[in-house]
Amino acid sequence: MTLMPLFDYTCRSCGNEFEALVRGSTIPTCPECKSADLERLMSLPIVKSETTRGIIKRETKRRDQKQAAEREHAQRQYEASHDD
Ligand SMILES: [Zn+2]
Repeated sequence: MTLMPLFDYTCRSCGNEFEALVRGSTIPTCPECKSADLERLMSLPIVKSETTRGIIKRETKRRDQKQAAEREHAQRQYEASHDD
């Protein structure tokens, strides 16, 4: 597996935002003004929140399925007790 060391940067000199592949000790420079005075954007929390949203979605779905199963069970018990 090859990890792509792709990072988001903001240039402090011209404000340009860009993505740069950073391999080893390579220091990226702004493609607009060639400045190396860059700020690496923290993109990790975005990835994290996406994952959290996915988990919440999955948990909600599972809870709904559980409730649906309980409703169905209750319905069956009701029908069974009124089967005369
Ligand atoms: Zn720049």
